[in-house]
Amino acid sequence: MSESAPAGKPHLKLPAYGKALLNARRLGEHPPVVHVIYGEEWGRGERCGEGCDGATHPRLAVKPSEFQPWTIDWRVVTGCLVAVFDSREDCFNGGKRFYEMVGEIGRFAGPVHIYRWQETGRAGGVSTTGYGLAFCASVVAAQVARANGAWPGWWPIETERLNGERRERWFRLTAARHEPVSAAA
Ligand SMILES: [Zn+2]
Repeated sequence: MSESAPAGKPHLKLPAYGKALLNARRLGEHPPVVHVIYGEEWGRGERCGEGCDGATHPRLAVKPSEFQPWTIDWRVVTGCLVAVFDSREDCFNGGKRFYEMVGEIGRFAGPVHIYRWQETGRAGGVSTTGYGLAFCASVVAAQVARANGAWPGWWPIETERLNGERRERWFRLTAARHEPVSAAA
């Protein structure tokens, strides 16, 4: 539960598919990466850049039409890299709700990567489309902070502190996982 969340909304609910992930984590299974699909329709080939075939990482989903700030219990993604799949391109269209959701996730997650539907290549004069990495939320927030002298409302300094610690921890753990076997011998 977030300390800076507005009072009077005590009933946080898990995002769609959150129960399965929560149960897995209670059993000690902590995925390095979790997908959060932001869209009315899910299953458009959401693959992240972390060695992903689309089914590698657990999936959560949020419908923009139903999303209300501070109503989702994001503790379920604590410490994980979260790949957010922005099906509506809200990330480049100033989507206020979208960024509010990203900021909420950032309070609990490790790195928060935004994927956007875009042209991924050309084959025979025809462009192919799919999800591609657009940006890392903390990097964009830091750019805004440098330009404006203040952290953006959707990613305040408190979020940056929380997220910064968890980002570092995520990279440490990931580096340990990828350590060559011979190095451990
Ligand atoms: Zn993935």
